[in-house]
Amino acid sequence: MKHNFGAGPCILPQEVFKQSADAVIDFNGLSILEISHRSADFVSVMEEARSLVKKALGVPDGYTVLFLQGGATLGFTIAALNMMRDSKKAGYINTGTWAKNAISEAKAVGINVNVFASSEDQNFNYIPKGYQIPSDADFIHYTSNNTIFGTQFHDIPETSLPLVCDMSSDIFSKPVDVSKYDMIYAGAQKNLGPAGATLFIVKDEVLGKSTSSFLPKYLNLQKHAEKDSMMNTPPVFSVYTSMLNLRYLMENGGVQGAAERNAAKANALYHEIDTNPLFKGSASKEDRSLMNVTFLLTDESIKEEFDRMWNEAEIVGLKGHRSVGGYRASMYNALPLSSVNVLLDVMKEFSRVKG
Ligand code: PMP
Repeated sequence: MKHNFGAGPCILPQEVFKQSADAVIDFNGLSILEISHRSADFVSVMEEARSLVKKALGVPDGYTVLFLQGGATLGFTIAALNMMRDSKKAGYINTGTWAKNAISEAKAVGINVNVFASSEDQNFNYIPKGYQIPSDADFIHYTSNNTIFGTQFHDIPETSLPLVCDMSSDIFSKPVDVSKYDMIYAGAQKNLGPAGATLFIVKDEVLGKSTSSFLPKYLNLQKHAEKDSMMNTPPVFSVYTSMLNLRYLMENGGVQGAAERNAAKANALYHEIDTNPLFKGSASKEDRSLMNVTFLLTDESIKEEFDRMWNEAEIVGLKGHRSVGGYRASMYNALPLSSVNVLLDVMKEFSRVKG
């Protein structure tokens, strides 16, 4: 078995893979891939998936949960269009590649974007602090976890304006106070399920208030909410597998249990990075991500040897993103501590032979 440290799509629990694979062959006598999304069987899957999202995150009354398509990338556009009000202004925090993409998509639909905080001056290796949140904006947008740069917001930005968050790479990894947000969105393919579904958690009072003159039906969350997330054919397989994964999460301590396991994994790896002289972390310590751990070699000339060693240990997906270099260990919910221990053993052994 390989140890998957990939940034996403990523590992899901083996039990979920098995149940999901079984349903491809036989789901009440048909394949999950061939049943009608209007069938009672699938309607109940969709309802259970939506209700498990609410249960797992403690979503308060007055919010709607939707499973759409298009990934978080279309989410950038959907968020901007649905949150647009009279001022057509929005405040965005720029913490890396995905935040930048969110900014450019908001501009593309006619929003006057004020980037009031950014960590671009240091290649996004920290989370900006001490910023002034604009008061004249329709909404504020940020990215809770920066998958590429290995930084994460450990506090929710304080604002009285409607708050929107791209939580693609840390949703379901820890508890979150949903009541602070008007909209949360996330591509499924990290902690939720297979690629294909995009989750939206949206405050009901937001729906139907867009001032955009351009709002195609598919991009209008009100239309999806009216049809209980079944306006058109949903990503059936992704929703089904996400539902199985949410059941698994709830049977294993919910998001609190996941948070404890994730902290144990991340602490172990950061400890090794900080104490092993051959490695150094690339993100500012107080802003380190518990999901994506980015690190570098202190001596690049011994890179080949390290690469050979982790490859031989059946580790995959450790190569860093080209915009940071070095390594990135993504440790989503389903990555077991035993896989992290394999990486730690490789790092220790590398230090023994090279140090
Ligand atoms: N936002 C974040 C934080 C991400 O990590 C990603 C994908 N890695 C995206 C957005 C884009 O997501 P998608 O591929 O679902 O469009």
